[in-house]
Amino acid sequence: MRVYNFSPGPSVLPLPVLERAAAEMTDANGSGQSVMEMSHRSGDFKSIIEKTGALLRELMNIPPAYRILFLQGGASLQFSMVPLNLAAGEAGTPKRRATYIETGIWARKAADEAAKYLEPVIRAGSADRNYTYIPAAPLPEASDAYYHITLNNTIVGTKWAVLPETGAVPLVADISSSILSEPLDVSKFGILYAGAQKNLGPAGTTVVIIREDLIGHAPSWVPAMLRYDVHAEECSMYNTPPCYGIYITGMVLEWLKALGGVEAITALNREKAEFFYDYLDNSRHFHAPVERLSRSIMNIPFVSKEPDREKRKGIEARFVKEAAAAGLVNLAGHRLVGGMRASIYNAMPLEGVKALTAFMKKFEGTL
Ligand SMILES: *Cc1c(COP(=O)(O)O)cnc(C)c1O
Repeated sequence: MRVYNFSPGPSVLPLPVLERAAAEMTDANGSGQSVMEMSHRSGDFKSIIEKTGALLRELMNIPPAYRILFLQGGASLQFSMVPLNLAAGEAGTPKRRATYIETGIWARKAADEAAKYLEPVIRAGSADRNYTYIPAAPLPEASDAYYHITLNNTIVGTKWAVLPETGAVPLVADISSSILSEPLDVSKFGILYAGAQKNLGPAGTTVVIIREDLIGHAPSWVPAMLRYDVHAEECSMYNTPPCYGIYITGMVLEWLKALGGVEAITALNREKAEFFYDYLDNSRHFHAPVERLSRSIMNIPFVSKEPDREKRKGIEARFVKEAAAAGLVNLAGHRLVGGMRASIYNAMPLEGVKALTAFMKKFEGTL
């Protein structure tokens, strides 16, 4: 039996994609092989990676001046690759600066990693209130190498409703948990990056969308595998790419296109999120801690209103356990935050959210 999987990542994939992958497991597209067994230099695989890139370009409306790269190392490696390629200097040259906005644990990690290669300046943040809001966006210094934001904060459940104005300073965004969930004007960004395992496919592939003029600035000491210019020149085939993950991602994109693309999924995602927030905001026992104007539509944390800390933890642990027994799995909050969190990515149907709220109503009756 399939469960409703509210995991923050790796996360739920569309059932038709999994079924098609199963059907093609031993013989993909009449090739007599699994995609896992194919040479990445074969015509069969070349058409898979090209089709996947073209679909992503179409669905996100990515302008021609941007390259799409399929890399490895997760979003976390981009925490290093962005500063290495945009701001690191030859040995002995002074460190450059970049703006970082600290809206959560991933944003903080990105800044900490960048500090190895430049001087990240945290010009705003929301750590003062447990990251439950998106702060007003300050202007960067004109000399900043770039301006980094985490567009959707997976752990704390916030998202940027309005993009910061950065002038000529390239805006760089981690969109791991919001890619293709709502419209995004790619032309406003210098670099977008996302680990695939939230809205795109299995873990192991990282998508990087980069404006061409930002390629080719890494100093000579930066390793080949960490250079955007190398990966762009080789069309993501400098070394063996994550072939199977790219293939699944391609099928997820086909599924999304058949559904009606970003416009259709946006309407569905907003309906799911509104339904759930509406329930939480009117619940006697549960509470959504994120400020209304900063709320994510992908990751929705919630807590018990029980004031006694020990009792609350007991109730929350029982909730997560009983929900799992009822086929609603992976609802525990992040280990650093506690409480609960429902991640309702593109592949989560409205029925899943309705089943969750029905369970929560029943649970409230037991308290
Ligand atoms: C999941 C996530 C990451 C980490 O991704 P990895 O692919 O595991 O490195 C980074 N940023 C955000 C916003 C995420 O949701």
